[in-house]
Amino acid sequence: MSSRRDALLTTPSSSPFTVNGGVSFWYAQDGMPVPREPLAGDTTADVCVVGGGFTGLWTAYYLKKAAPYLDIAVLEAKFCGYGASGRNGGWLYNGIAGRDSYARLHGRDAAVRLQKAMNATVDEVVTVAAAERIEADIHKGGVLEVAYTPAQLTRLREFHEAELAYGESDRVLRGARETAERIHVAGAVGSTWTPHGARLHPAKLVKGLASLVESLGVRVYESTPVTEIRPKHAVTPYGTVRAPYVLRCTEGFTAGLKGDRRTWLPMNSSMIATEPLPDAVWKSIGWEGRETLGDMAHAYMYAQRTADGRIALGGRGVPYRFGSKTDNDGRTQASTIADLREILVRFFPAAAGVRIAHAWSGVLGVPRDWCATVTLDRSTGLGWAGGYVGSGVATANLAGRTLRDLVRQDAGQAGQTELTSLPWVNHKVRKWEPEPLRWLGVQGMYAAYREADRREARGHSAATHPIARAANRVTGH
Ligand SMILES: Cc1cc2nc3c(=O)[nH]c(=O)nc-3n(C[C@H](O)[C@H](O)[C@H](O)COP(=O)(O)OP(=O)(O)OC[C@H]3O[C@@H](n4cnc5c(N)ncnc54)[C@H](O)[C@@H]3O)c2cc1C
Repeated sequence: MSSRRDALLTTPSSSPFTVNGGVSFWYAQDGMPVPREPLAGDTTADVCVVGGGFTGLWTAYYLKKAAPYLDIAVLEAKFCGYGASGRNGGWLYNGIAGRDSYARLHGRDAAVRLQKAMNATVDEVVTVAAAERIEADIHKGGVLEVAYTPAQLTRLREFHEAELAYGESDRVLRGARETAERIHVAGAVGSTWTPHGARLHPAKLVKGLASLVESLGVRVYESTPVTEIRPKHAVTPYGTVRAPYVLRCTEGFTAGLKGDRRTWLPMNSSMIATEPLPDAVWKSIGWEGRETLGDMAHAYMYAQRTADGRIALGGRGVPYRFGSKTDNDGRTQASTIADLREILVRFFPAAAGVRIAHAWSGVLGVPRDWCATVTLDRSTGLGWAGGYVGSGVATANLAGRTLRDLVRQDAGQAGQTELTSLPWVNHKVRKWEPEPLRWLGVQGMYAAYREADRREARGHSAATHPIARAANRVTGH
């Protein structure tokens, strides 16, 4: 195993041709945006949105559509889409972090309503993008998740049954042969497929959204970092925005804000994108349906077939930087690139000779209880949404519509809606432990998951390895 890994590390296929960082491959392909002007002095607004990712932009979009007279200002530290929204794997899918916890806290029916709202959210994004003429390479081919060890197969079947019980009657369980007919993943012994997922180009969607909200009259200020959020105020080096509602939409960067260092842990996720694959390689792989592809490993992978015939594949890499630090414009570690390439070749041996064109990383927000939340504190007018734990592409849209309803309800413009009654609304969670406990905990958890994956791959047991079960108990999974 280690000699294969060494060979992968030194192979010319992963470097020096590989661009590392530069925010993400998606920007290298589609072009960096021309920066908008920063805030020019103190101002007022009806709603101030902090952060120009999917959460902030969808919130601004839905608020402006519902109430065009609202004066909305978006404050973005770098440029819209600089964060995870411009770096992700492009899985627009119906997963939401914390659903099972919400079932325990609020009852199964409430969690089923949340799941149904997520299923509908996938279609909402597809529909709005089409209606607003945002070309983001969207293809609704569903989500295919594969198993390639006996223990993964057991988890896959359990996962499949659990999803059916949340009302996903259109989910399909496939055996080894049927799976290979969809996507030929080496050694795959089964898969589960749901139609509630689409592949997309994240940077195209976030750029399109930023232009769209601007065209609707939302003021978007870039290169404008907010240094402090307090009731009715967002403070920046270029001036302060005073607004009755200040909505924090900074997900993985939230720890950088005063008072929020331990609110959500910035977890890294890293990706690679290959060069376009030759037709012969695609022939052997299949993947005609353009499903988003994942697996049942504890340290799971996620991938898509891009519109121009590459494989973009992600995984955990170095999970967390001490002190909640974020990365430097998306640069990732050489060892992470090698790890991801190893997964690529393990899945698709025919792609062994394909070069890695680009590697990058980003941060996503993880709450202490791993439950995504959307909140408006009616006493202060402060709101926030995030903690999506890697499932934020669709969830951010649901959050945007929910923040719209919460703000309008508070302002007396609307009553309670189906969205404001979902169980993830106004959920409270305790903060993360101080360092070094935070760092030690995350390192330990991922070391345990990786070791469990290794042992499951070597062994023949159909049960989840006890190391992973112990880690799940600690993390509450
Ligand atoms: C590599 C990677 C792959 C992923 N893959 C998937 C996937 O395939 N599917 C999926 O569902 N989810 C995925 N995710 C998660 C998903 O991308 C995020 O959950 C989602 O994009 C979060 O959107 P957001 O707008 O809340 O945050 P972000 O997109 O991170 O936006 C926050 C914005 O706030 C700005 N900001 C930060 N601090 C300040 C400040 N002080 N003042 C002003 N602005 C500030 C940032 O510059 C940034 O633009 C992935 C994440 C990563 C990192």
